[in-house]
Amino acid sequence: MRVIPISLPTPFYIGPVNVYLIAEDPITIIDTGPKTRQTIEALRAGLRDAGFRISDIRRIVLTHAHEDHCGLAKSVRDEAKDAQVFVHDWESGLRHSRLQYDEHRVLLERAGVPEKEIQWMRHMYEGMREYADTLDDSDCVPLEDEAELEFESGSLRVLHTPGHTPGSCSFLREADRTLIAGDCVLKRITPNPVLSPDPLDPSRRFPSLAEYMVSLARLRECSPTLVYGGHGDTIRDYDELFHRYFRAFQMRQAQVIGLVKTSGVTAWEVGQAMFPGADDVHRFLAVSEAVAHLDLAHSESKIALELSGPTEVYKPVSGH
Ligand SMILES: [Zn+2]
Ligand SMILES: [Zn+2]
Repeated sequence: MRVIPISLPTPFYIGPVNVYLIAEDPITIIDTGPKTRQTIEALRAGLRDAGFRISDIRRIVLTHAHEDHCGLAKSVRDEAKDAQVFVHDWESGLRHSRLQYDEHRVLLERAGVPEKEIQWMRHMYEGMREYADTLDDSDCVPLEDEAELEFESGSLRVLHTPGHTPGSCSFLREADRTLIAGDCVLKRITPNPVLSPDPLDPSRRFPSLAEYMVSLARLRECSPTLVYGGHGDTIRDYDELFHRYFRAFQMRQAQVIGLVKTSGVTAWEVGQAMFPGADDVHRFLAVSEAVAHLDLAHSESKIALELSGPTEVYKPVSGH
């Protein structure tokens, strides 16, 4: 099975995104890049170098529904005519408008994000929409955990690996233990478990960090020899990266627990203390990371949680 990485430009801070062409019938592309003119031109060029055109694509498989990965899905599908789009059901909230904003707003209020910041974040999301076309549920085939995507000479196994987003999926070629992991595994940076509503009960938060740690351990059990990530270089030593991620999580846990004061703190305050200079989208990512770690610490009874109106306030566990 020929897996051909194609690096595509994005207008985002993260830099280029990697999409993967499986050059075998049915011709499949894993992720598409964001919806910009430069990106689709680069995608055409990458396909051309491999001897293909967009019209040859039969399957568009999405690791997750962030704009940098899914933005061109509809355009590619429309141009390829018979192609189908595959994405996990739990990405539905993101598919419609990146975030179903009202649900997200509640989570931000609960995290103690000030009103003017919430307004600003809303503005930012609206801006992100131009980088992806909306896909309706009827446009998509759901990816099921453990399903096999069949090709002429083998298959890719779908692994539902939630954490970065609730519906993130990775794809394993068991024959040579090659893994295509989207933003679940990135070489240089530890992916952010993004603050998301729980797909099964949108009034609650998705326990992103706890789920993410389970997903990383599950991928480790696959003993991958080669991991293709959503950004940056290919990973040949997953074990080393796995340990590095866990050390980073432990250090962050200790830092977050250390920031919880007797007078009580919100996730927003913890995020600001961890990343004092955060600007732009990073203010959202800071609160997102704080919530993920506070949730985990609370679930392990290392900190206490109280409600103050709609806002959650964290305090040390009495006796600590
Ligand atoms: Zn992502
Ligand atoms: Zn990404």
